[in-house]
Amino acid sequence: MTQVFADPKTADQVHFEKAKRHIPGGVNSPVRAFTGVGGTPVFVSKAKGAYIYDTEGRPYIDYVGSWGPMILGHAFDPVINAVKTAADDGLSFGCPTPFETTMADLICELIPHIELIRMVSSGTEATMSAIRLARGYTGRDKIVKFEGCYHGHSDSLLVKAGSGMLDIGEPTSKGVPADFAKHTLTLPYNDIEALKAAFEKFGSELACVIIEPIAGNMNMIIPTKEFHQTLRQLCTDYGVVLIFDEVMTGFRVGLKGASHYFGIQPDLTTFGKIIGAGLPVGAFGGKKEIMECIAPLGGVYQAGTLSGNPLAMRAGKAMFEHLTKPDFYEELTAKTAYLVNGLKAVAKKHSIAFNACYVGGMFGLFFSENLPKNFNDVANADTKRFNEFFHAMLKQGIYLAPSAFEASFMSAAHSYDDLDKTIACAERVFLELVAS
Ligand SMILES: *Cc1c(COP(=O)(O)O)cnc(C)c1O
Repeated sequence: MTQVFADPKTADQVHFEKAKRHIPGGVNSPVRAFTGVGGTPVFVSKAKGAYIYDTEGRPYIDYVGSWGPMILGHAFDPVINAVKTAADDGLSFGCPTPFETTMADLICELIPHIELIRMVSSGTEATMSAIRLARGYTGRDKIVKFEGCYHGHSDSLLVKAGSGMLDIGEPTSKGVPADFAKHTLTLPYNDIEALKAAFEKFGSELACVIIEPIAGNMNMIIPTKEFHQTLRQLCTDYGVVLIFDEVMTGFRVGLKGASHYFGIQPDLTTFGKIIGAGLPVGAFGGKKEIMECIAPLGGVYQAGTLSGNPLAMRAGKAMFEHLTKPDFYEELTAKTAYLVNGLKAVAKKHSIAFNACYVGGMFGLFFSENLPKNFNDVANADTKRFNEFFHAMLKQGIYLAPSAFEASFMSAAHSYDDLDKTIACAERVFLELVAS
């Protein structure tokens, strides 16, 4: 009798099994588990420039960039050197440092509608604190968010629309009290009529509206300028704090973020991802009058043992020196445009229903004829085909966001050769899709 051997496990499968023994689901953040696309996540041992390397040294061209921060490419020497120098001086002091002032000055000078800014340690902390601040400033409880936008995982924000429109919110996670969710209204993204109706009914009870000004957590959606203008006007009319969550778009879609792209001045802005250059950082800032309500100046409490961490501040400063160079964003945008247009061209050649959008170093890929305008459109795109595409690209050494509901990112380290390689791989996959 011939003996039948099971397929040898890949290194990633072995790592994943080991990880699951003591880490829930084997990961420390759910999307990393590949639940959306299926299969086994790539375990990464190191990264450099546009590439991540798995534990067996196989390179992948990376379009995730740690979900945004790696805009200069991985292990960018000036950033790494700044962290090494900072580490020699000590990891944390629990006292103010001049590096925090430098970071605050940099951001406030680049984006003048941010008059005061406070550093925290994650995007979740930034949005959670901004909402508390808006509630404290206005003395109101209700907040508005939009369907498909993600603002981190604090209780008020893990909420979806109730069964009827303009109904009270329902938690999207177990563990969030309904009593909490009832203060959050969820509206369809990019929908002016729904916005007007909500303000008519609840405007004077709203503390704030929080929005991803360009959505990057339901794949990518660029809303209309009219939508943003209407939102800004309604917030002003009803005394509602407008919060732009630029944790993803800040310093990603351009040096002055999505607010500059639309010509809108929000009252508060949240940051994360890029500003820490890969270290855990978030920030929230905005109008002086509102920001002065935070402790120690005002009665809204907010604090953090590691806030303004010296390693993170010095890494961020080193990174900003490169982001502020002339033509940095023009060159980055040109690369994103080249890739997106190349992918669209080969899809068209093989009659694949495919579309893509981009701003600056951020892009979205869709298996649908038209670009989505809201969450429902994204959900109605061909996610099964996206998943096939994802795995076929992965096999060829191209690492895209492992979900049809996430945006992808370009870095300054991607070469045109990398982009040509990516387009050629995509064409091979499109040919297979046509044949299947
Ligand atoms: C990633 C993200 C967050 C959460 O940031 P964390 O650092 O993961 O807590 C919040 N808002 C937006 C728009 C994000 O993309």
